[in-house]
Amino acid sequence: MRVLIMADMEGVSGIVRWDQVTGGKAQYEEGRRLYTEEINAAVRGAKAAGATEIVAVDCHGAGGDYSFNSFVPELLHPDCEWVAGHPWSRYTELLEQGCDAALFVGMHARNNTPDGVLCHTISTVKWYNLWFNDDLVGESGINAALCGHYGCPVVLVTGDEAVCREVREILSDGLTTVAVKRGLGRYSARQIPPVRARQMIEDGAYKALKNRNGIQAYVPAKPTTIRIQIDNVEKLADFIGRPGVEFEKSPNANYVISRGDDWMQAWNQVWHW
Ligand SMILES: [Zn+2]
Repeated sequence: MRVLIMADMEGVSGIVRWDQVTGGKAQYEEGRRLYTEEINAAVRGAKAAGATEIVAVDCHGAGGDYSFNSFVPELLHPDCEWVAGHPWSRYTELLEQGCDAALFVGMHARNNTPDGVLCHTISTVKWYNLWFNDDLVGESGINAALCGHYGCPVVLVTGDEAVCREVREILSDGLTTVAVKRGLGRYSARQIPPVRARQMIEDGAYKALKNRNGIQAYVPAKPTTIRIQIDNVEKLADFIGRPGVEFEKSPNANYVISRGDDWMQAWNQVWHW
């Protein structure tokens, strides 16, 4: 059984502030240890459930050379391999080879979620709202659609209660969620201590993989329309001249609209690295 772990840092137990997830800040070193240990918990659960190949991808943009490079290598569980330094949500090697299931660890809620700890969608200054057809999605939805394009179901999502609620609205019913904290605002949470949170993640990964049969991959209906509400008007310029992309502009809200035969085509038209 091949298992892909896609990981983000904001949804980890113990993390509630930007300084804990920003490379070079004093609190970052602690944050990345907390992050790495939650990955290890998922690896333990996946291995116990029968995984033979486990690849963990660091999807957290910590800034500069720390971006997608926040795991502490010497702490990582020896039974996984990991991807560092890869462009965001573009690691598809394992999916192309045929991946049985994906586990999302440490996820945060989409932008503008009142109880979403460190909530945002891709960028804190640009992407206000994002829809795949009628689904209002955050980063979990993007990564799930990437997996879904290759027929790989997401069977576990961990993070705060807000992201667990968010994914239950759009992903398959059989999904397992593990909430390690409950947001009291964007920068505050009532949390489960890391040691217990890790056990919950390990148990959740095990259970999710044991019960993965019948869990559907997330595939937005085809043809697919992607709609991005842009918060900062100057950022509209980033989308000029892209094939298949249109604008809907008004003084109240500005949208970038991308239509494709399927999700991947529509996504490729707006997401360049
Ligand atoms: Zn992140």
